[in-house]
Amino acid sequence: MSNNPPTYSVVIPVYNSTRTLPELVERLTNVFNAAGLSHETIFVNDGSPNPETWPILKTLAAAYPQVRAFCLARNFGKAGAVLCGMQHARGNWIITIDDDLQHAPEDIPLLLAQQQHDVVMGSFTNRKKHTLLQRFGSRVKAYFDSRILGIPAGLKNSPFKVFRADVVRNMLAIHTSRPFIPSLMLYVTRDIVQVGVTHHAREHGKSAFTLRRRIRQFSNLIFGNSSIVLQAVAFLGISIAMLSLTYGGWLIIKHFLHGAGVPGWTSLMVVMLTLGGLTLFSIGVIGEYLIRIIEGIERRPAYFVREEV
Ligand code: UDP
Ligand code: MG
Repeated sequence: MSNNPPTYSVVIPVYNSTRTLPELVERLTNVFNAAGLSHETIFVNDGSPNPETWPILKTLAAAYPQVRAFCLARNFGKAGAVLCGMQHARGNWIITIDDDLQHAPEDIPLLLAQQQHDVVMGSFTNRKKHTLLQRFGSRVKAYFDSRILGIPAGLKNSPFKVFRADVVRNMLAIHTSRPFIPSLMLYVTRDIVQVGVTHHAREHGKSAFTLRRRIRQFSNLIFGNSSIVLQAVAFLGISIAMLSLTYGGWLIIKHFLHGAGVPGWTSLMVVMLTLGGLTLFSIGVIGEYLIRIIEGIERRPAYFVREEV
């Protein structure tokens, strides 16, 4: 590893891959050499069960001066691996790319052409390499991404990105044990643009993102970044309370016009429904406090400075 920090740091979370890794290093080296740019490649082995993965990374780190590799103690999930790589990146720009060659290193210059922005995302112009279920999942996720995180309209999130180093530094200032990269990114900046790139088919192995993993990631978004579920409960509660009050008013009028049916039934119903609704509403209010506590524990700074003159 040379002492001069490189201009670009490529961060690659690795899970179980083997065959793609040497090719990835080779192609990244070619891309940066051709452009005359210095770079480092940081692999983070995310506790891959495959016993071959880590030895291959060690060999690559020994063979190439620009390659560094970290091995996490266990499988922490992709976001944890990416954050580990970001923490150790020394470049002025940090590029995140998958380990399976589904994102082509040759597309990196397309992203770098826009590097005056805080973040450049490679959005995939073709997604047919994913199954129908995966694409449905992406749709649902995209909806909540925009609803919860406020991803600007028309922007399609993708893991293939170039970040300015200070954006990454600010993202790392947020302390969370269940990180969600787009949430951290959007908390720091909205100066995000996208560039069309091709999504390639996986040639070796299977996607590590089983339905269960995707659901877990999704639940981190829903529960870690919003009180959306309890907001829905609050809305249901206040609706029930309002309807009960209206219904109660009508029952009271009916009581005086037609006399009581079963004594006490009217008042009992009105009190029960109204209180039930208000209870649900209160749970929603508690949700609002909870999300504020979560954000407080994460020590989310109230602001980030982009520039000072
Ligand atoms: N990954 C990881 N930890 C995991 C699962 C996946 O670091 O627990 C990495 C994996 O090495 C790859 C990226 O996340 O670089 C995307 O994984 P994959 O290709 O399996 O998912 P897909 O492309 O189907 O979304
Ligand atoms: Mg993949």
